[in-house]
Amino acid sequence: MSRSLIYRYRALCFLLVLFCFPQRFATRNLPEAEQESSTAKATQIIHVSNNTWHDFYRLVNVQVGSHVSGVSELKRYLHRFGYVGDGSESFSDVFDGSLKSAISLYQENLGLPITGRLDTSTVTLMSLPRCGVSDTHMIVNDDGIHTTAHYTYINGKPKWNRDRLTYAISKTHKVDYLTSEDVKTVARRAFSHWASVIPVSFEEVDDFTAADLKIGFYSGDHGDGSPFDGVLGILAHAFAPDNGRLHFDAGETWVVDDDFTRSPELAVDLESVATHEIGHLLGLGHSSQESAVMYPSLSPRTKKVDLTDDDVAGVLKLYGPNPKLRLDSLTQSEDPIQNGSVSLRFLPGNFIGYVLLVVFFILFR
Ligand SMILES: [Zn+2]
Ligand SMILES: [Zn+2]
Repeated sequence: MSRSLIYRYRALCFLLVLFCFPQRFATRNLPEAEQESSTAKATQIIHVSNNTWHDFYRLVNVQVGSHVSGVSELKRYLHRFGYVGDGSESFSDVFDGSLKSAISLYQENLGLPITGRLDTSTVTLMSLPRCGVSDTHMIVNDDGIHTTAHYTYINGKPKWNRDRLTYAISKTHKVDYLTSEDVKTVARRAFSHWASVIPVSFEEVDDFTAADLKIGFYSGDHGDGSPFDGVLGILAHAFAPDNGRLHFDAGETWVVDDDFTRSPELAVDLESVATHEIGHLLGLGHSSQESAVMYPSLSPRTKKVDLTDDDVAGVLKLYGPNPKLRLDSLTQSEDPIQNGSVSLRFLPGNFIGYVLLVVFFILFR
């Protein structure tokens, strides 16, 4: 076998390896930060020990009828989000039938398989930080029987009857480590996600009292009947039209501009939570679709700011479309192949393919 032929066979083997394991090579070439971010997204469950939130993992697979310490805490959790009783009774540690029903409803609302059991996925979701707005007392979409929609509305379907809303950020209720400019920048971005799809504009003003929407950071019991709980647990809450209050828990480690390095385990993305809460300010309830911005739970170190088809469909039915919105940009988002962002993702793969093809022809012409 001639030496040039050996070189050609070696080159062919190299090309075959590249073709067979493109992901492996692509991942190696990712910037360090991007690799870290993709790892964080893949690992949705982050176990954090803190004194303010529940650890329900010890209740996995507890059977109906059994008496286990911690069940009363679970009942209080489910009561907090509208699933159990009216709060007047004291909760026992017995896993009774009403708790089973509450778990089934929770599973239905959060898009889990409805088993009525405390399976691992249910307990995991209950242990994640989330929005403080109740999942019940909401009305489902009115698309009729044949629907795949998951969005809901606040009971009574309240909405703003104006196309221009003002918002102000509290100068007194804030967190020290974020500048007012940082918070304003995040708020602008969060409002723009919604303003791009509905004919409602949001204008930042200084006068907090007169503003339609009032945003601030609050701790513990702050006088609106929905106390915050410190690190993780409940992250924020907002009130439906035309109340206009949006409160962030000052106890969180809020992060702007994806800087999750400051507190790797506890960091919560401010824009993601702001975008979710603005949905409530507009009248949307929680979605049972996990990818939706209006899904109630959000893992630490997670950025979720892009409205999904479900979020968009829900808010469009309340406010109608923004006339400036190009219809094709909406329809494109329903077709991943035509979606620009998805196409871009495939481009590097195509490029490598073209390069390899050229190298192949040079070697074997
Ligand atoms: Zn919410
Ligand atoms: Zn509040």
